[in-house]
Amino acid sequence: MAWFKKTRKPIAAKEKASRVPEGLWVKCPGCAQIIYNKDLATNLNVCPKCAHHFRIGAADRLRMLFDEGEWVEHDRGLTSTDPLRFTDTKPYKDRLKTSIETTGLRDAVIVGSGRLDGIRSVAAAMEYSFIGGSMGVVVGEKITRAVERALDQRQPLVVVCCSGGARMMEGALSLMQMAKICAALARLDRARVPFVSVLTDPTTGGVTASFAMLGDLNIAEPKALIGFAGPRVIEQTIRQKLPEGFQRSEFLLEKGMLDMVVDRREMKATIAGALRFMGARRDPDALGTAAVPVALAAVSDDAVSR
Ligand SMILES: [Zn+2]
Repeated sequence: MAWFKKTRKPIAAKEKASRVPEGLWVKCPGCAQIIYNKDLATNLNVCPKCAHHFRIGAADRLRMLFDEGEWVEHDRGLTSTDPLRFTDTKPYKDRLKTSIETTGLRDAVIVGSGRLDGIRSVAAAMEYSFIGGSMGVVVGEKITRAVERALDQRQPLVVVCCSGGARMMEGALSLMQMAKICAALARLDRARVPFVSVLTDPTTGGVTASFAMLGDLNIAEPKALIGFAGPRVIEQTIRQKLPEGFQRSEFLLEKGMLDMVVDRREMKATIAGALRFMGARRDPDALGTAAVPVALAAVSDDAVSR
């Protein structure tokens, strides 16, 4: 019980009207530098002073990856049917409705195909502001279809992960997506079509435990939180203090969980270079020559069946 009790509500302080228009400047959480919003946008939302990577949306991700920021979107219309009629502090249906209104998306992932530095590719990017980028049935299905599309067209696949994990409002159905996507990725692997996984802040839970870590190349952005369970849960379980920088990209790279940590400004060039190394070819259409749609060097049947 408290010693003192406030019987009256404190007087609300009047906020002084600011002369600076809202949203023009951003304070960097890394170095406390005040950055002009437009400067930040032209720098791919990376702080020009300390290279802090700000979180960006799924559409911005795809814009960053695809040439001229153009892509053809797939399976846009899929929405969750709320199969469990789930309610926590508020009904899941309402949460979905709010997220659809605020993000303009139907669920937490955008899938598209286009050219990545001239290479015809399929890419998916997750949207954190849609219920924490959580993976429900729709996200699972869209990513699976993206994998299948990549397989059909023999085009490399890039998935940009940004997720809090499986969507608890869809219970076991969301967990099944892990197995479904992994099975599709296994088929992609057998067909020798490259898959690059890009892990951004944050990539946790069921997403880390499934496709995020299954790339032929797992690339992370600097200082991204990547893990399965949160540090507090782990500390309580193992009853030990966790080391400095635990679950951050650089730590995971050192421990062999990741292949590379790449600055966002070099991400596209790095992915394109890796895809070319893995056998992907530039689409001749992109260079304005005769159409020979060969995205990947064909592999003979002997090599495919292992
Ligand atoms: Zn900074």
